[in-house]
Amino acid sequence: MPSKSPRPVFRFAPSPNGLLHLGHALSAITNADMAAACGGRFLLRIEDIDATRCRPEFEASIFEDLAWLGLSWQGSVRRQSEHLPLYARGLERLKDLGLVYPAFMTRGEIRAAVASAEGAGQPWPRDPDGAPHYPGPERGWSAAERAAALASGRPHVWRLDMALALQAVGAQLFWEETGVGPQGETGVVPADPAAWGDVVLSRSDAPSSYHLCVVLDDAAQDVTHVVRGRDLFHATAVHRLLQSLLSLPAPFYHHHRLVLGPDGRKLSKSLGDTGLSALRAAGLSPEDVRALLL
Ligand code: GLU
Repeated sequence: MPSKSPRPVFRFAPSPNGLLHLGHALSAITNADMAAACGGRFLLRIEDIDATRCRPEFEASIFEDLAWLGLSWQGSVRRQSEHLPLYARGLERLKDLGLVYPAFMTRGEIRAAVASAEGAGQPWPRDPDGAPHYPGPERGWSAAERAAALASGRPHVWRLDMALALQAVGAQLFWEETGVGPQGETGVVPADPAAWGDVVLSRSDAPSSYHLCVVLDDAAQDVTHVVRGRDLFHATAVHRLLQSLLSLPAPFYHHHRLVLGPDGRKLSKSLGDTGLSALRAAGLSPEDVRALLL
């Protein structure tokens, strides 16, 4: 059930791994406008869990771009890198429930396993982003095999055992969508987490993964309305599953359209010309940006 907080809470949650573009502006403006329309709070969260890609100068440019757009957030900025123990506790809880396993296959090994199965005519499931499901040879390992592999110090990630997780929940999950999904989905949407296979919840090069952090942070910040781009629509199924496993409240979700580049493709942080700082330097005003987007 969506949580019933007395005051709605919205958040904009960019990753400081590049410059903000028009798609981010649409997310930030939509969040701020929806919060203002219902007397809600608008929070800023910096999703800087991936230390290899996130940089302080990108964080600084997020603040600059938001100020230029005339957006201000309430309360202090939450940085994921300052909450690692929260994510570690979340993972521990899933370990205690027996729903995660250490996975040792490298990217190359996964590719080879999938290519060999497909070469033998065995269709291989892909997730909504097009990545093949993890083969999961470790799923059936005994506790002793698992302990030995961990003790060997081989690099590994922790993955959710999707079949066990679905069994643990034991019911169809839904979310309440106030925007529109890629196939026109809106209203009460059934979640299909199985489409993702055994998702990664913690990596060896970063203390946690997007999916785990986002649900723990949204709960910790009492977020009632998640407003973000449609590219994350299907990920919501994983978020609902984790919320159910970790007994966290379910926010409302609102996925907005993606802003496409002149080539009809989703904008990326490397496309400098649609970056907000480039548009600002080219003389556009924040009103021009609003007019472009809304
Ligand atoms: N940090 C994510 C991004 O920059 C957004 C996460 C979310 O809004 O749930 O794409």
